[in-house]
Amino acid sequence: MLCFQCENPARGTCRFCGRAVCHDHMETMPFILTIYLGKEQTPKAIVVSDALFCGLCRPQPEPIEMPELF
Ligand SMILES: [Zn+2]
Ligand SMILES: [Zn+2]
Repeated sequence: MLCFQCENPARGTCRFCGRAVCHDHMETMPFILTIYLGKEQTPKAIVVSDALFCGLCRPQPEPIEMPELF
């Protein structure tokens, strides 16, 4: 697999969009694994602090509702 940006061998794929990225182009970004309601009904998030990120896509900070799927 080759880097999406420069065609060097890729080191991994973006956690958000799946593009392959090499060491030069990889960045990291917090990735929200799951959100749950804690005690006192406060929403809490389990976050991976440095998930691999391609630097190109624009992950939304919160899940988007997609009612048209149902
Ligand atoms: Zn690259
Ligand atoms: Zn990406």
